[in-house]
Amino acid sequence: MVVGDFAEEVDTLIVGSGPGGYVAAIRAAQLGQSVTIVEKGDIGGVCLNVGCVPSKALIQAGHRFHEAQADDMGITAENVSVDFSKVQEWKSSVVNKLTGGVDGLLKGNKVNVVRGEAYFSDRDSVKVSTDEYSSQTYKFKNCIVATGSRPVELPAFKYSKRVINSTGALELDEIPQKLVVIGGGYIGIELAGAYANLGTEVTVLEGEERILTGFEKQMAQIVSKRLKNNNVTIETKAFAQSVEESEDGVTIKATVNDEEKTYDADYVLVSVGRKPNTDELGLEQIGVNMSDKGIIDVDEQCKTSNEKIYAIGDIIDGPQLAHKASYEGKIAAEAIAGEASAVDYLAIPMVVFSDPELASVGYTEQEAKDAGYDVVGAKFPFQANGRALSLNDSEGFMKLVTRKEDGLVIGAQIAGPSASDMIAEAGLAIEAGMTAEDMAMTIHAHPTLGEITMETAEVALGTPIHIK
Ligand SMILES: Cc1cc2nc3c(=O)[nH]c(=O)nc-3n(C[C@H](O)[C@H](O)[C@H](O)COP(=O)(O)OP(=O)(O)OC[C@H]3O[C@@H](n4cnc5c(N)ncnc54)[C@H](O)[C@@H]3O)c2cc1C
Repeated sequence: MVVGDFAEEVDTLIVGSGPGGYVAAIRAAQLGQSVTIVEKGDIGGVCLNVGCVPSKALIQAGHRFHEAQADDMGITAENVSVDFSKVQEWKSSVVNKLTGGVDGLLKGNKVNVVRGEAYFSDRDSVKVSTDEYSSQTYKFKNCIVATGSRPVELPAFKYSKRVINSTGALELDEIPQKLVVIGGGYIGIELAGAYANLGTEVTVLEGEERILTGFEKQMAQIVSKRLKNNNVTIETKAFAQSVEESEDGVTIKATVNDEEKTYDADYVLVSVGRKPNTDELGLEQIGVNMSDKGIIDVDEQCKTSNEKIYAIGDIIDGPQLAHKASYEGKIAAEAIAGEASAVDYLAIPMVVFSDPELASVGYTEQEAKDAGYDVVGAKFPFQANGRALSLNDSEGFMKLVTRKEDGLVIGAQIAGPSASDMIAEAGLAIEAGMTAEDMAMTIHAHPTLGEITMETAEVALGTPIHIK
């Protein structure tokens, strides 16, 4: 028997508590709205539980292990070992700290958290099934949908014990001896690098001519080279065809440059993209337009074709990134509050936590030219930076894209250690409308990687000190 329910009236209802939903909830509460958030899984969504955070913890553990074994700087360590169950415990403790923190923040902001699965039963109502037998309907003034995405499954590679997606790869209880990764995008490459650092023999199968096609070729080449030096085989123009699974391993058949090849491994990780969670929400019936692929149409305030409903994060167009979801969450909450906020995507950073890290914000030189700008593409090598040398990690470069007529910064790319942190300064420069001169005249502490930003700006001005 299903227990009947009377609709509860709420102001702002948010579906999904990932980095889009929970940030939207807190922003909406700050703006004085009474907020209810519905979550069917774990608070924090993909990002905190099975995405950004645990993957970065695993990557860090891989670095620690790899570096401990490096025989350089005159330091040699013997008997370095890894207890993977303890690595997993530590990774979970990081996740738990963060998800517990978000839970506390929601409570602190008086956000009502409802656990259950939401389904749109009307233009302004959501039915939340809390278990098999009970449900509660919420009638909202406004709703923000932030239901995120899930891994795409290849028909010939049904997920199982040994055919895994990124979630499975983050939860293994052993370090595989051999791992095949299908897909050389950022998630596949980050996990390939993490396991390679932990000692796994990794093969990456990528259909395109190179890995990390979202980044400039020269940047991806540095990562490819580093991976190859670390026992990773990268097969390009490679299409995985089938898998046979046994008790203790898998055999994968693939065509590589039209030649048939076979790979044996302990696991195969399928990492070929993510699809939006918009197919089981009932949105089509309540006037929310979306593409064939389930990407919801929104305006510059993240409002859908149903004027009471907003959509943010992985379910709308653009890169599927946590900080983009959070940014849109704030915009949607402010739009509901009647503010004139609107999205501006020029300065969304994109980062790969590879070896070395890659980061890009704004235009690349080519994109700027294609958009009709007359630009200067200035480049500075990490090798000419004292801090990079003292870190013993000096491979890579920074590129700054500036408008020729006035030096306005419109893009930056970095391949090198700490690129993920360094890119923030270039993002700020773009947001603040700064010029190369502003960046070059900003005094940067010595010796820091941050000086690379200052020096790249000097290259743009034709006045670099540390390169000729
Ligand atoms: C391995 C991996 C590594 C990543 N690393 C990075 C990184 O380093 N940096 C980065 O920026 N991004 C990274 N991402 C991407 C990032 O995790 C996503 O872009 C981000 O989580 C999207 O946020 P979201 O709020 O749109 O959705 P999600 O985080 O997916 O959250 C959606 C939430 O909605 C809930 N939900 C869905 N349907 C319903 C329903 N019907 N009722 C109630 N609740 C529902 C889900 O349970 C989930 O908790 C990574 C992803 C993966 C898989």
